[in-house]
Amino acid sequence: MIPYLDLAIRDEAHKRELLEAVDRVLSHGRILLGPEVGQFEEAVARQCGRAHAVSVNSGTDALYLALRALDVGPGDEVITTPLSWIATLNAIALCGATPVFVDIGEDLNLDATRLEAAITARTKVILPVHYTGRLCDMTTIEAIAARHGVNVVEDAAQAFGARLNGRPAGSFGRLSCFSMNPMKVLCAYGEAGAVTTDDAALRDKLIALRYNGTINKEECHYPSINGRLDTMQAAMLLINMARLPETIARRRAIARAYTEALGDCVQCPSESATSEGVYYTYVIQVDRREALREYLQSEGIETKIHYPILMPHQPAYRHLPSADIPVAERIVGRIVSIPNHEKMTDGDVAEVVAAIRRFYGASR
Ligand SMILES: *Cc1c(COP(=O)(O)O)cnc(C)c1O
Repeated sequence: MIPYLDLAIRDEAHKRELLEAVDRVLSHGRILLGPEVGQFEEAVARQCGRAHAVSVNSGTDALYLALRALDVGPGDEVITTPLSWIATLNAIALCGATPVFVDIGEDLNLDATRLEAAITARTKVILPVHYTGRLCDMTTIEAIAARHGVNVVEDAAQAFGARLNGRPAGSFGRLSCFSMNPMKVLCAYGEAGAVTTDDAALRDKLIALRYNGTINKEECHYPSINGRLDTMQAAMLLINMARLPETIARRRAIARAYTEALGDCVQCPSESATSEGVYYTYVIQVDRREALREYLQSEGIETKIHYPILMPHQPAYRHLPSADIPVAERIVGRIVSIPNHEKMTDGDVAEVVAAIRRFYGASR
């Protein structure tokens, strides 16, 4: 069996480090907002080249609280992509704002060439998503946003450690949102997330917003949620942060192997010289997707679809006006994520390659 993802810790040395980190937290007893939370925030800010990072309980909270920090509310429009985990759209909707969808390009990210036409007097935020852990064309997006005086908030949930022209995910726009849930490349062992910014006032507001909108835990200034990261997750995240370069290198090596071996029979993700993705997912575009998935399953290879339903097509959003997203609508039936996690062996990778080639009748 080659599972799509393997959340168990197989490396005994890694497991020992994690358990020691938990042990330290249980011993010092500062279970909420303990010292490891601050250390984790410093490490995230440093990695992103930002002045500040505020940890939160999930990527969903990161998105929701980032929009709240910018006072996004009813009457405001937020521009985003149709192809993301539904948390992106839920964050916009929970603020009471109106989502506006800009179609994706062949790289599966928001097509920056279509962005300007979607901006109106009500546009408050552009919320691009770095799908698969590859950065959007942030150079163009930031330039358009600046021209129109609109905020950029990155949904960098899939992209911690990714770079564009040497600049890391989490360094673009006014606020950047991360998830460190157990499936992400930098992962916790429960829910976790963070927001980065260079703006000290936004940092302070986020610190209030993540704890029921309170200042000094007493005065409530904004109705909000409890979205704090707990110390145990921060402690384990610090361990995984130290291992991140190795994790990313392995994922990129698997991606290179796939692209080299499959490029002639399925559409593989392309990578430019200036963009360094982290391959949260390795998404190929294929014909006869359902039959391929069934065949791979019968060969013991698990696949996923990220995501089978475009966000504006979700039942919860039926009331929205229909979005002009022909590329996303064509591609959503063709995408499939194949296993690419760092616990795979070279033999596993070769097996996945061989099975896909067999299915399409391609010889080696
Ligand atoms: C994972 C993810 C989120 C949500 O993060 P959680 O930590 O699961 O709440 C949001 N946006 C994208 C693009 C994601 O991949």
